Amino acid sequence: MLGALPGMPKVHLHNPDLAYENGDEMMQWWYKAEQGKVDPFVLIMEGSIPNEKAIASTGGHWAAIGTRGPFGQPITTNEWIDRLAPKAAAVVAVGTCATYGGIPAMKNNPTGAMGILDYLDWQWKSKLGVPIVCVPGCPAHPDNMTETLLYLVFQLMGASPPILLDDAHRPLWLFGQTVHESCNRAAFYEEGDFATEYGSHKCLVKLGCWGPVVMCNVPRRGWQNAIGGCPNVGGICIGCTMPGFPDKFMPFMDTPIGAKFSTRVSSFLVGPLLRSFRRMTTAKLNKEPEWRHTGSKVASGYKGAWA
Ligand code: SF4
Repeated sequence: MLGALPGMPKVHLHNPDLAYENGDEMMQWWYKAEQGKVDPFVLIMEGSIPNEKAIASTGGHWAAIGTRGPFGQPITTNEWIDRLAPKAAAVVAVGTCATYGGIPAMKNNPTGAMGILDYLDWQWKSKLGVPIVCVPGCPAHPDNMTETLLYLVFQLMGASPPILLDDAHRPLWLFGQTVHESCNRAAFYEEGDFATEYGSHKCLVKLGCWGPVVMCNVPRRGWQNAIGGCPNVGGICIGCTMPGFPDKFMPFMDTPIGAKFSTRVSSFLVGPLLRSFRRMTTAKLNKEPEWRHTGSKVASGYKGAWA
């Protein structure tokens, strides 16, 4: 947006929260996009989409932006998507609410909330043939968001190949690995050494961490300036980047069912064996080779953290 990235075309951001304009003046960009006077544009959704049809009989609405007519009738979110999505070069959903519905779409929610994939259809494609692009997360990682948007701009310019997405429409290079695969506690899991209370530096799976099955790059990326990332700093992974979030991950803080079995195997069988072999190897490698010893100066060697 500030022209800092080489090769970037000029990009304008129209966001209700960040816009300098307000009221009708701000809404002009929405009307211009609808009339084809802003082209190409990318429609970016934040927040879940209420099912306005479900409450049509009451005459109310759940979410709207802008008004029409002399009586200021609100224009609902549903209507804006219907107006703008067919004209957009691409549609991007940012955050788990916008992608898959998230917390507002939990079972029995009164709004009928859903993500853009369910509103438009998982097979939906833009007029340029781009499928819906999802950057989930609660919240979405800002670097994942900027990388994805940057990629799309290059794609729309014809300067990069089509964006590679997984089955849940997430960019593959960002969501192709599990939390567990890049967690700095993974060695403790492998050795069957698990935390039983918060504040421990060991693996958090028994405290309810879903990292082994959740696709997310936050342990590698960190939260701010590469620092943090939920399990890295002691927070269990609750699966916020997954389409099944939150219903399929509840109750939070209970050991996941699959982990009850796998942790037993590694606690009693594989883990202790691995740990003892590794201690022996570490003790051996912590000593200098014999030919370096002179006279009686034989290094005793570091006995390791277990000694
Ligand atoms: S804390 Fe979670 S992500 Fe990290 S090693 Fe344990 S189970 Fe895997």
